[in-house]
Amino acid sequence: MVIEIVRIGQRLVRDDRVTTHVALVSRAFGAQRIFMTEVNPEIKDTLEKINKTWGGDFVVEFIDKWKTIVKKKKEENFKIVHLSMYGENINDVQENLRKEENLLVVVGAEKVPREIYELADYNVGVGSQPHSEISALAILLDRIQKGVQFEKEFPNAKRKIIPTKNGKNVLVKETRD
Ligand code: SAM
Repeated sequence: MVIEIVRIGQRLVRDDRVTTHVALVSRAFGAQRIFMTEVNPEIKDTLEKINKTWGGDFVVEFIDKWKTIVKKKKEENFKIVHLSMYGENINDVQENLRKEENLLVVVGAEKVPREIYELADYNVGVGSQPHSEISALAILLDRIQKGVQFEKEFPNAKRKIIPTKNGKNVLVKETRD
């Protein structure tokens, strides 16, 4: 399954940290790419550094308009999943989501345009209470993949954590750069 994320409506400076965390969760929980408007180019640099150290080829792609990418992905047979507390309960839709081949997950910030509710194939609520886009995304990705994302290797990593009961065990790959 291909899972990509689009972050919409983030505000300059104010949402930088949350947007960075949305990108980190996307990468660590098995998505391949995140689209966002270029409000802060440092977010792309941060994720590139994370890839270099911890492996994989997660992509941060800057876009001008979220609607253009949502429409393009619909044409490419992606199903659009909009995370919203007003949506259908995740418990009721997770099985259908698992059957899809390609998903574009839309994650909001402060204000979400009304139009996204109509463009989405699924409006999904992770419970019907307001919380956070970071938690909503993490739970959605985990429910869809049922934890399998945590078995996945991140190729070409310079560092790899060996899970241990106590302390820290990190394999460090020697490189010349
Ligand atoms: N007040 C905003 C609105 O009207 O959509 C929501 C703001 S909330 C801080 C930011 C984002 O977190 C939302 O756009 C949604 O993607 C996500 N979110 C928050 N609570 C959620 C929930 N219970 N289920 C799914 N997504 C949620």
